[in-house]
Amino acid sequence: MRILIIEDEQELLCDLAKGLTWKGYAVDQAETGMKGYQMAMDETYDLIILDLNLPGMDGLEILERLKEEKPQTKVLILSANHHLETKLAGFQLGASDYLTKPFHFEELEARIRVLLNRRFVQSPSHLTYQDISMDTFSRCVTVKGENVFFTAKETAILEYFLLNQGRLITQQEIIDHVWNGDSDPFSNSVRVHLSAMRKKLKNVLGYDPIQTKIGEGYRLR
Ligand code: CA
Repeated sequence: MRILIIEDEQELLCDLAKGLTWKGYAVDQAETGMKGYQMAMDETYDLIILDLNLPGMDGLEILERLKEEKPQTKVLILSANHHLETKLAGFQLGASDYLTKPFHFEELEARIRVLLNRRFVQSPSHLTYQDISMDTFSRCVTVKGENVFFTAKETAILEYFLLNQGRLITQQEIIDHVWNGDSDPFSNSVRVHLSAMRKKLKNVLGYDPIQTKIGEGYRLR
C-alpha cells in the first residue's frame, strides 16, 4: 500500500518514512504543502498523512482542494494542533482520522492499518483468503497453517491481492500501490517479484491461487 507523507519537520518526516517503509508500505515524502498537494494530485495514494502547519500551503487547504478533486483519497491528519475546532474542521473537510503530536509510532501504524483495511469485512489485523492468512501487524504470512517467508516486496504484493479479492488487478496498479515514486520498476521486476510470490504459495497450496488474464491482469481465483 502506498502512502504519501506531507510534513515539514525534516527529522520527523525522515523517521516516519523509515518506520513505515520498514512496516512494508511504499512511502513518498513531501516537505512543503505545495509539493505534497502536487504529488497527491499526480499520483495514486492509498493514504495521505498530512501535517497542518505547513509552509506555503496550509494542511486544511490541501485537504479541501484534494477532497474536491479526488474525494476517495483517505487522509490522516497528524498535527500538534489539539484544538477541538481544528479537529472538527478537519473531519468536516473529509479527513478519515486525526492524531495529535506528540504521538507513538505504534499508534499511528495501528490507525493506518485500520484505515486501509476498513472497507473489508475482516479483522484489521488479519487478511485472509482461503488457506492464506496475513498478519498485517507482524507482516507474517501463513499458508495452510504453515509459516512461509516472503520478501518485503512479495508481502506487499500479496497484501494488495488480499485487499482486492475477486477483482482484476493490472500490472500498473501493482506498481502504483506497491512501489514508491523514487523507484522506477521495470515491468519485468514486477513480474519477477510476483512470480516468486506465486511460486511460494503454490509450493504449499499445491496450486497457484492467482489467475493470469493475458493482456489484462491478475486475480485471486
Ligand atoms: Ca508543521
